[in-house]
Amino acid sequence: MHGINKVAIIGSGQMGGGIAQISAVNGFETVVYDLDSDALIRCEGLHDKLLARAVEKGRMSDDELKCAKDKLTYVTDLNYLSDADIVIEAVVEDVDVKKKIFAGLADKFTENQILASNTSSISITELATSVGDAADRFIGMHFFNPVPVMKLVEVINGLATSEETTKRTIALAEAMGKVAVPANDRAGFVSNRVLMPMINEAFYAWMEGVAEPEHIDEIMKLGMAHPMGPLRLADFIGLDTCVHIMDVLADGLNNDRYRACPLLKQLVVAGRLGDKTGRGVFDYSK
Ligand code: NAD
Repeated sequence: MHGINKVAIIGSGQMGGGIAQISAVNGFETVVYDLDSDALIRCEGLHDKLLARAVEKGRMSDDELKCAKDKLTYVTDLNYLSDADIVIEAVVEDVDVKKKIFAGLADKFTENQILASNTSSISITELATSVGDAADRFIGMHFFNPVPVMKLVEVINGLATSEETTKRTIALAEAMGKVAVPANDRAGFVSNRVLMPMINEAFYAWMEGVAEPEHIDEIMKLGMAHPMGPLRLADFIGLDTCVHIMDVLADGLNNDRYRACPLLKQLVVAGRLGDKTGRGVFDYSK
C-alpha cells in the first residue's frame, strides 16, 4: 500500500534520530543525513544505547537489534537520499532553512518519492512551493517526542497534496507502529496551536512571579493530570523550537497574542535551550 522500502531522514537531532530509529526497527532501509558529522556520531551513539536498552528490557532480541542496526546508514552526502521512497525532513523549525533544503534536493527527486516535513507548525503549502511540480508529493508528517514512545503522527495535507500521497503516508505511519490523525494546514496545526500557547503562558506566569517554575509544573501535573509540567516539557522540546513555533503562530495567525514570552526568548539568547544543552528552565548538568 505505501510501496516504501527506503526511508531518508534529513536532520539527525532529537526528532530525526527518533524517526530513524523506529524506521529501522520496523524493517525499513534507513539513511540519516546531517550536515554536522558530530551530530551524526551522537545520533548513532544514541541508537546503540537505546537499542541495547530495548534488548536488556526484553522488548527486542539480539537478532532484531542486529537487523535494525544493519538497516541504518549515517551520511553527510545528499546523493545517498536520491533512491529513497520518502524523504522526511527534521531540521531546525525555520521556514527558509527548510525551503532551501527541499529546493536543493529538486534535481535528485525520483518520480514517486514522497517529500515529507516533520515541521511542528510551518505551513505545508508554503514549504511545498520550494519543490515546484512535486508539490503533489509534499506532505506534513508530524511525529512527537520521544518518537519511539509517542503514538501520534499528525498528517497535514498542503493545498496540492495528492490523495495518493496522503494514503501512502498514513500507511507508512501505521507500518511504523503509529496512529495517523489528520489536521488542516493552519499554523501550528492542532497540536501546537493548543499546546504552545499554554507553554508560553507558563513562562509569563513565571516571569510575573505568579509561582516558582517547579510550582507551576506541580500545579499543572497534579491539577490537570498532565504527565509533565509545561516548563519541563518546554525544556524537553527545546526552548529554541518553542520560540520558533510561537513566531510561526504569531505570523501565520496574524495575532500578537502568540508572541513568545520575553523570558523564554531571553533563555534562548543565553544558550539555555533545555535538555539538549543541559540547562533550560531547569538545570540537568547534575
Ligand atoms: P534538533 O535541534 O535536535 O536537531 C536538528 C538537526 O538538524 C541537527 O542535528 C542539525 O545539525 C540538523 N540541521 C540543521 N540544519 C541542517 C541542514 N541545512 N541540513 C541538514 N541538517 C541540518 O531539532 P529537533 O528537536 O529534532 O527538531 C527538528 C524538527 O522537528 C523541527 O522542525 C521541530 O519543530 C520538529 N519537531 C520537534 C519536536 C520536539 O519536541 N523537539 C517535536 C515534533 C516536531
